[in-house]
Amino acid sequence: MPFSHLKLNDNLLKAIDELGYQTPTPIQEKAIPLVLSGQDVIAAAQTGTGKTAAFVLPILQRLDNGHAKRAKHVRALILTPTRELAEQVHSNIEQYAKYTDISSLAVYGGIATEPQKQALIEGVDILVATPGRLLDLAYQRSVHFSALDVLVLDEADRMLDMGFSEDINKVLDRLPTLRQTLLFSATLSSNIHALAELAVHNAVEISVTQDTASAPKIKQYLIPVDKDMKSALLSHLITENQWRQALIFIQTKHGAAKLVTQLEKRGIAAESFHSGRSQAMRTELLEKFKKGEVAFLIATGIAARGIDIDNLDRVVNYDLPDEPEDYIHRIGRTGRAGATGEAVSLVSKDDFRRLCDIETKLNCLLDREIIEAFTPRKELPVSILNYVPKRANKMRADSRRKNKQAERGGSSSQRKPRSSDNPWGK
Ligand code: AMP
Repeated sequence: MPFSHLKLNDNLLKAIDELGYQTPTPIQEKAIPLVLSGQDVIAAAQTGTGKTAAFVLPILQRLDNGHAKRAKHVRALILTPTRELAEQVHSNIEQYAKYTDISSLAVYGGIATEPQKQALIEGVDILVATPGRLLDLAYQRSVHFSALDVLVLDEADRMLDMGFSEDINKVLDRLPTLRQTLLFSATLSSNIHALAELAVHNAVEISVTQDTASAPKIKQYLIPVDKDMKSALLSHLITENQWRQALIFIQTKHGAAKLVTQLEKRGIAAESFHSGRSQAMRTELLEKFKKGEVAFLIATGIAARGIDIDNLDRVVNYDLPDEPEDYIHRIGRTGRAGATGEAVSLVSKDDFRRLCDIETKLNCLLDREIIEAFTPRKELPVSILNYVPKRANKMRADSRRKNKQAERGGSSSQRKPRSSDNPWGK
């Protein structure tokens, strides 16, 4: 479908043409007509899908009606989680609005407010803002919302993950109720739906992330937790949620044995499944696990490769694997054959690099579920797709070497490593 079928005006079509866009992306095809019709929209779309143009182009069309600018009064507000995204959205607006008189401004913390206030006095149509700085400007009466037509919550899931929900509520309180609201989020978690209840009205929900009919029905999420609280959290999850069964992945065989003891102390029977146990014992354990006679099997990566169980309720990543492919391999053990499954990862700050690698591989951020009593002292940073830490390769090599040693239960000088010692089979 060509862009001209989307009923965008010539000013916009010309700018799009100059940028070399030939056809709308799927999210643009779905969202642009809805936004043009004035409908509230909830869209599941990630960065890279063309989501920015999906909301900016129809907003520009709505605002391209010759209205004079009023000092401090904005007509569209786009909330973003980070200053980088605010700048990116603002620069996209400038490109798409090239042949219109519509102006935009990005405001965010960490820089002086005076130039931002001055620009607002001169008149801004579209304000792109991070929530904290926007509230500062609103409290100082540097920006007014009485003329606001459209609100966009961009990367709403990241804003919630970054703890902006209270600020977003405060912003919502200041906006006119008669407005169009567009909520864009990489994932549509229960938290996002709760936010949607407050922010949008009779919204149409659209998604371009996954074909839900063919996607395996695996609910994936993570719980941020301090490393030393993981066993307590696992016990809590098992007892509170009355989990019937779970395959629990852990990095080392010593860790597996220790976790069995810790769970037993809390009255939960579990078995460890690792290379230190005989093959006969492993076969027996697997049989018992399949029959449900063993409820919780705590397995290291090397041992888990031989586990093949259909219709497993739940996989727990007590530790995240080093290789993102192993994450996908692990979670694929649940939700098979059309059954629903759950994959929960307990993630501490020092798992962060592995988490980013996994999310990059999945091309989406995992939902985060906060359990109040286990809120980590060492905060889990906000995930970044395509995150490349400094010295990434060295860290990865070091971590693989440590894991190999731990799985063997000794130092590398004890004996020559064999390829089968590598828990990830790489
Ligand atoms: P976004 O998902 O909004 O971050 O956009 C990702 C990239 O896709 C940006 O570099 C846009 O310039 C580009 N883009 C957006 N829409 C189109 C399109 N219809 N055709 C080609 N590129 C596009």
